Amino acid sequence: MNEMYFVVKRLIAGDGSVLENAVLQVQNGRIIGVFQSGFTPPENANTIHGETLLPGWIDAHVHLAYSGAIEARAFRAEASEMSYPKLALRAASYARETLEWGVTAVRDLNAPGGVIIDLREAINAGYVPGPRIRACGLGLSVTGGHMDKGGWGDHVALRDMTYPCDGALEWRAGVRTQVKRGADVIKINLCGGSFRDWQHPYKQEMDQSEIMAAIDEAHRLEKRVAAHTSGGPTVNLAVKAGLDSVEHGRWLDDECVDLMAENNCYYVPTLRVQENHFEHSWAAQNANANSIKWLELGREAMWESLTKAHKAGVKIVTGTDAGFMLPHGLSNHHEMELLMHGGLTALEAISAATKTAAELLDFPDIGSLETGKIADLVLVNGNPLDDIRVLQNKNNLRVFKDGLEVSRADGGLL
Ligand SMILES: [Zn+2]
Repeated sequence: MNEMYFVVKRLIAGDGSVLENAVLQVQNGRIIGVFQSGFTPPENANTIHGETLLPGWIDAHVHLAYSGAIEARAFRAEASEMSYPKLALRAASYARETLEWGVTAVRDLNAPGGVIIDLREAINAGYVPGPRIRACGLGLSVTGGHMDKGGWGDHVALRDMTYPCDGALEWRAGVRTQVKRGADVIKINLCGGSFRDWQHPYKQEMDQSEIMAAIDEAHRLEKRVAAHTSGGPTVNLAVKAGLDSVEHGRWLDDECVDLMAENNCYYVPTLRVQENHFEHSWAAQNANANSIKWLELGREAMWESLTKAHKAGVKIVTGTDAGFMLPHGLSNHHEMELLMHGGLTALEAISAATKTAAELLDFPDIGSLETGKIADLVLVNGNPLDDIRVLQNKNNLRVFKDGLEVSRADGGLL
């Protein structure tokens, strides 16, 4: 029997509660007791002392198959030059990095060849270390849409790098194909992404029959649906049709946030990736005046939508888009800091990255420190309630998955 006790100054449970001077008991990878002050572990027990104990974090929007390359052309080149096995093997190193930062579960929303489904299997089988994964395989998009962009040479033959669907029947087939491949969740692209005409910031790509068919089919197969969208009335349509999460969603109107709250549709605002555009040179991103204007308007709208959604009681979840212009793992902690900048308290930001995210990802056994849950834990040297940035230094974190401490590839050296 493998038993251990964590004795800590404070335990942040993930559900909004905090226990001072707490003890958490783990047996064979599960939490079997949470005690307040006064409880003393038996003598000779395996005991770990520390400052703050939290559930492992959950990032609901990552791309483990992407490297985080900033330069737009480099990003495109790596997708066309790497084989699927090579992408999957590289993704394994990003998965390890993600886990080392205390992110013990992720939802991957598009990978060429659907390779993150295979990585999920490899992690579950214990071949390689990494977080728990929910994966969509390939994101679905209309021909020429957000995830099926043109601009390739005539000689380039792309296979399974994008998955275009046109018309309700093809959308149903697209959903079925991803589920057959092993997808846990379906990703759809409702409308165009960035770098569009700023005067029309949210151009609808899927028509109503396609939206309804995709969501209906996914739900029939008991899969949730995540929608990439910049916002606008299309989101309202999709939420009415039963959409499970809005990704990015810069432009959300009052009706939309009310609908989201009523229909239990989660909001994954991905603040970090939007802010990231302003930290890198426009030239590297191949941006023109139009796209810069679009990004500036989107930035303004993003903070407004977050405020509205938070006020309306929409469930907010952390998602980073890590891999797309952003590093794996660390970005999650930046996202929590930005959620606080957007009006959430530290406890609310932590819940967005733990308990609420676990709900969205259908991981009932993780996301909070309660008896019976899996012991995915992070022991923090510092108090994130005083300063959430304490999480942005890997040396402040000790990470446990299934109750076992995660070893660092660099040996934990400074
Ligand atoms: Zn994404």
